[in-house]
Amino acid sequence: MINFQILGEPGRDNAVLLSVDSGKAVHKLLFDCGYGCLDSVAIADIMSLDGVFFSHFHMDHVSGFDYMFRLNYNRSESPLRMFGPRDTRRVVQHRMQAYTWNLVDDAAGKVAVTEFGGNRLERCEFATKDQFRVPTQETSEPMIDRVVYAWPELTVSAIELDHGSGCISAGYVVRQADRWNVETSKLAELGLKPGPWLKQVTTIDDTPSSETIVIGERTFNVAELRGQLLKSTPGASFAYLTDFRPNDVEMEELVAFIKHVDVLVCENSYANQDLDLAVKNFHLCSDEVAQIAVSAEVGELVLFHLSDRYTSEDWSKQFGEVRRLFPRTSWPPAWQSALA
Ligand SMILES: [Zn+2]
Ligand SMILES: [Zn+2]
Repeated sequence: MINFQILGEPGRDNAVLLSVDSGKAVHKLLFDCGYGCLDSVAIADIMSLDGVFFSHFHMDHVSGFDYMFRLNYNRSESPLRMFGPRDTRRVVQHRMQAYTWNLVDDAAGKVAVTEFGGNRLERCEFATKDQFRVPTQETSEPMIDRVVYAWPELTVSAIELDHGSGCISAGYVVRQADRWNVETSKLAELGLKPGPWLKQVTTIDDTPSSETIVIGERTFNVAELRGQLLKSTPGASFAYLTDFRPNDVEMEELVAFIKHVDVLVCENSYANQDLDLAVKNFHLCSDEVAQIAVSAEVGELVLFHLSDRYTSEDWSKQFGEVRRLFPRTSWPPAWQSALA
C-alpha cells in the first residue's frame, strides 16, 4: 500500500511525503523539500526518512532543506539518503557545508548522495565527523531500467525531464514489489495444513530448483509447490512529476516511464490561456497535464504546484480544464477549501 500526502499550501512551495507499507516494513520517502513543507509532518517521521528525492534545485523545491537536514545530519542507524539529477552532489555538499561544524568529531552520521544523468548513477558518501568535506565511497555505475535505488520492498526509478536553459528536472516512479499470497483453496486441494513450512515456500529467494521440503509425510519440490500455491498481486505504484516541458520524443519516453501507475502527482502550473508562459518557462498548461495522464492511462491524477499568479477562482477553472480531459483528477484533500 502506498499513501501520499501533498505538503504545503496551494500557490506556495510544495512537496510530497510518501509512505510505502509492505506489511512487513514502512518506508518513508520525501519528494522535494520546499519552504515550510515539513511543518505539518511529525518530527519522528522526518527523522526516519528513508530517502529524500529532489526534482531539481530551484528554490521553491529546496528551501526547506535546512529543517530537514537539521533533524537528520547525524543519524547513526542508517545514512540520510538523498537523490537528484546531475549536479546533486555539488549542490547538496555546498548546502551541508554552509554551517560551522566544530562539535562533530565523534559524530557517527553519514549522508549518502546519488545523482543520475546520461544513464549513469554516481554515488558517494559524506561523513558528519568530516564536516562533509570529502566525498568517500565514490562509485559510478550504469543505470539499469532507470532504477536509482531499490529496497527489497520497493524500487524508485527516475527520468530526466527538460526544465529549460540546461536545467534538468527529475521525474520519479515508486513501485512496490509484487506480493505473493497463498491461495487457501489450493492448500485445501493439496490436503495441506498451514504451518511453519509455509515460510520457506513463501520466501521468494534464490532457492535451487531441485530443493525439496517435507510436509507431514510427503515430500514436495519447493519451486513446484510455489507455482501451485502462490498468487502474485501487483504492488502499488506512484509517480511524481513537476517543473518540466518535454518535446515529442521525451513525451513518448515519459509516457512509457509512468504507464499505468496507480497515482500520478503532477504540477498544474499554468492554465490553458497561458500556454505561451508555460512554453517560455518550461512548465505545462492544464491540457498538457491531462494529456499525459490520458496517454499513460494512470489510475488517478492529483494536481499540485499551482502558481500564485492566479486567484482561487482561476485555480478552480484550471482544475476544470484538466478534469474535462481526465475525469479521475483531484486536488489534495486539504486544498478543497481553496476551490472557489
Ligand atoms: Zn523549477
Ligand atoms: Zn517549481
